[in-house]
Amino acid sequence: LKIYNELKKKIQLIGEDIEVDTLVKSTGCNGLCEKGPVVKIIPDNISYFQVKVQDVDEIIDKTILKGEAIECLLYYDVNKKQRIRYHGDTNFYKKQYKIALRNIGEVDPINIDDYIKRDGYKALKKALFEMKKEDVIDEVNESGLRGRGGAGFPTGLKWRKCRSIDNFPKFVICNGDEGDPGAFMDRSILEGDPNSIIEGMIICGYAINAKSGYMYIRDEYGLAIKNMSKALFKAREKGFLGKNILGSKFDFDIDIVRGGGAFVCGESSALMASIEGRVGEPRAKYIRSIEKGLWNQPTVLNNVETFANIPPIINNGSDWFRRIGSKDSTGTKVFSLVGKVKNTGLVEVPMGTTLRELIFDIGGGIIGDRKFKAVQTGGPSGGCIPDRYLDVGIDFGSLSSIGSMMGSGGMIVMDDRTCMVDVAKYYLSFLAEESCGKCVTCREGIRMMQHILEDITNGKGKEEDIDSLLELCEAVKECSLCGLGKTAPNPVITTIKYFRDEYMEHIINKR
Ligand code: SF4
Repeated sequence: LKIYNELKKKIQLIGEDIEVDTLVKSTGCNGLCEKGPVVKIIPDNISYFQVKVQDVDEIIDKTILKGEAIECLLYYDVNKKQRIRYHGDTNFYKKQYKIALRNIGEVDPINIDDYIKRDGYKALKKALFEMKKEDVIDEVNESGLRGRGGAGFPTGLKWRKCRSIDNFPKFVICNGDEGDPGAFMDRSILEGDPNSIIEGMIICGYAINAKSGYMYIRDEYGLAIKNMSKALFKAREKGFLGKNILGSKFDFDIDIVRGGGAFVCGESSALMASIEGRVGEPRAKYIRSIEKGLWNQPTVLNNVETFANIPPIINNGSDWFRRIGSKDSTGTKVFSLVGKVKNTGLVEVPMGTTLRELIFDIGGGIIGDRKFKAVQTGGPSGGCIPDRYLDVGIDFGSLSSIGSMMGSGGMIVMDDRTCMVDVAKYYLSFLAEESCGKCVTCREGIRMMQHILEDITNGKGKEEDIDSLLELCEAVKECSLCGLGKTAPNPVITTIKYFRDEYMEHIINKR
């Protein structure tokens, strides 16, 4: 904010007639979070990274007034060992394909006109005035879009089923309760492009015949809540929300609900209980929320990234979307690439991109050029993938076939100094803390596994502990009620499967 204010102040000094508010814009994160703050000059498309307040005079003087880029502040490509004038030329950006993140870093999130200039609300107009409700659902269904929150359920099928139920009112919920350690995909979209989510939700409401939507946002995401509140207000002013949207007969509005502060509230039924004002605990899955969701009424719940994909699908058509990604998983996926990787940040790539491309091309490789050891995908309940799978193309099917999962898109890279038993212990302690305690297997089983792992890392482990861990994993997976418990053993299972020698080293050498 200091740099933004300084830029506005200094540019205003150039001339009184300059409309500085339209010239200097504050945007969301453009992905390379580690190298922020970023100042991007358009139309020259020159970006400055890690800018300090004292750099502002030089940027204005040399780049804006004299048209010369300042070399010392340009992005440095560590692989090519050279400075890059246009950040789009770097591997980090060049290999990305942005659909969900299309506007982030380009628009002022609270300026609805910025969004409209980039085709914002065009898909809503098309859906309302050129398409029947069934056509909207057909388009989403044929695009092959699968829910980006973790489970990967086909979005069009979910919408179609909800639409077919003759029970009103119906609800649309956006799950913005992102809680995975190291994940910030939803946060970035909520903060940087709230209108794309709003537009996706309105289109969903139109297609399934709902009049109300809820945006459930993690309570710690203060800026996301602030920007979303302002975006909703502006959308209402412009007639995109409320009664008779854009002069049509369709009414729809959205309320924000602040998250309950528990990881398990990200689970669909717990999230709905939390909106209703009850304790955020999951319920049995045989009651489907499409039929009996919020207040026992038919409900579509999708996550932030899923809704952000809807407007481009309606605008460009399902064929366009299907051509991107892999057969099993169409389109792109946003990942938060963190850990021991040189370029940490938010990346969006076509499904099917390999782990090697993500970590070594886009991510720039391992910090200090150390050896890659593993990558954890899918959040705390995902798995640790070793180097032999670096050439696997990432999609829903391929990740589960090697014991991990897509999850919502967290990706934590580890180098050769990481102890994989410690990694499994860390994730279990996180999940033990976050378990709601309803199921014995999840509540007690995770704790028991945690104690065994503590013994192993404290030099008190026995060889039979590994079998005990695997038996407990099976019980917790089979007998727990919700996704948290069912997937909690994944870090233990994959680290034993791929890094058993590290467990044995602790046990044999007693350290
Ligand atoms: Fe709660 Fe765990 Fe059971 Fe899920 S599996 S309902 S988090 S105790």
